[in-house]
Amino acid sequence: MSIASDPSAASHAPARTRVAPSPTGDPHVGTAYMALFDVAWARRTGGRFVLRIEDTDRVRLVEGSEQQIYDSLDWLGLAPDEGPQRGGPYGPYRQSERLDTYRPYVERLLADGHAYYCWCSAERLAEMRERQQKDKSGSGYDRLCYGKTREERAALPGFTDTPVVRMLIPDDVPLAFHDLVRGEVRAPRPDDQVILKADGYPTYHLAVVVDDHEMGITTVVRGEEWISSTPKHILLQQWLGIPVPQYAHMPLLRNSDKSKISKRRNPAARLLWFREQGYLPEALRNFLQLLAYPPVGDDGSEIATLEQFVDSFDWSRVNTTGPIFDVQKLDWLNGAYIRAMDPDLLADRIIEHLVERRVWSEPDADRRDLVRRATPLIQERLTLLGEAADKLDFLLVDDATLEVQQAALDKLGDDAARVVDASIGVLEGLAPWDAATIQAALRATLVDDLGLKPKVAFGPVRVGITGRQVSPPLFESMEILGHDAALTRLRRFRELL
Ligand code: GLU
Repeated sequence: MSIASDPSAASHAPARTRVAPSPTGDPHVGTAYMALFDVAWARRTGGRFVLRIEDTDRVRLVEGSEQQIYDSLDWLGLAPDEGPQRGGPYGPYRQSERLDTYRPYVERLLADGHAYYCWCSAERLAEMRERQQKDKSGSGYDRLCYGKTREERAALPGFTDTPVVRMLIPDDVPLAFHDLVRGEVRAPRPDDQVILKADGYPTYHLAVVVDDHEMGITTVVRGEEWISSTPKHILLQQWLGIPVPQYAHMPLLRNSDKSKISKRRNPAARLLWFREQGYLPEALRNFLQLLAYPPVGDDGSEIATLEQFVDSFDWSRVNTTGPIFDVQKLDWLNGAYIRAMDPDLLADRIIEHLVERRVWSEPDADRRDLVRRATPLIQERLTLLGEAADKLDFLLVDDATLEVQQAALDKLGDDAARVVDASIGVLEGLAPWDAATIQAALRATLVDDLGLKPKVAFGPVRVGITGRQVSPPLFESMEILGHDAALTRLRRFRELL
């Protein structure tokens, strides 16, 4: 028997979706991945997307983590409609501020015989598990406390004074449920799950059911690792007489060796990593979509806006197999987004990124202008925003302090001094100062008059102007630098030869 309330297709009534991360460190990329699909469904149905902070595990709490979750979602364009910062009609949105909410639900479950106190000490539970493993006598709590009063139980060994509350899982617990992504799903039989801890805090299983209900959540989108918990949640909902939400269990993100992506093993599991590296939020958002959803861009393109994704959104199109988290694909997407961007806007994003990363200090108007003019030169071959520093720094340094790389000097041929002398000669009175005129003048002098091959001819000029062998287009760079700066650089360079 299927136990979900509505095994048919997803209802299109305005959905309330939520993401419920625990603020236990840097936000995980999985939070953004879930949030994207939450947002898609909420917007598709004209509903709301909620952020709930699951902060009842006080030991693992990390200061600042909640703010990072919020900032990262905001950065990705996935800011919640309701949450601790935004507020909303279903607050508070932090579990630690909702602690009074859970107790009455527990009392009801106890009164109705669906839950019972358990006074077993940690030592007794450990011994029980060991014994079960040794004689392969099943797993799960052995119900020593079930049906006993405190006094009856206190007479037996392995007793503690501070009980937990457990669910009494019935023999005929329904194990199948309807999932929006997977259709009919079967989960293994659950144990007598603890729902209230000895310290009076609810466990995840109780809190998630109560909070989702009290916050009017209609659609629970979460990772497939929660499938095995869903029968417990549905039991609680049925016992408490509250509606069963629709469930959508998303495929897990995986490393290329198929293992689950974790912050310990993969830097890209940290959501902040992408921002630090200079990925564009729109590219990352698009990438997260492609991990579990087909391309929805114009003419089947993989590049699609959030609006296109939302407009196309249908649970039946979500993949069920764990997507490989392929950062090369993200690099490609990021490059594509960069190439498609208005160059002035890209220049501003580059500056913003490099200032945020403290690679550059805040540029004044002149330098900002310089970056704007130079950005089209590097736009074609930029993968990450951060790479722009290495490509553009030569334009921003003082002419007198431009460092010429030793490797570039070592590669210069015997003609270098002659080339630089001739270049200075022809450039001194050159007008107008634009890339085409500069190129024509240098070509006429170095290639036609001196008879040098273009590669040999322009190499020393490039090193003199940029300090390196490889640089953005030379003549355009010289135009942007300006006549005086270019000549100062070449004269200084000549002294090194
Ligand atoms: N706090 C849980 C997590 O961090 C939420 C799971 C859920 O969405 O139900 O994964």
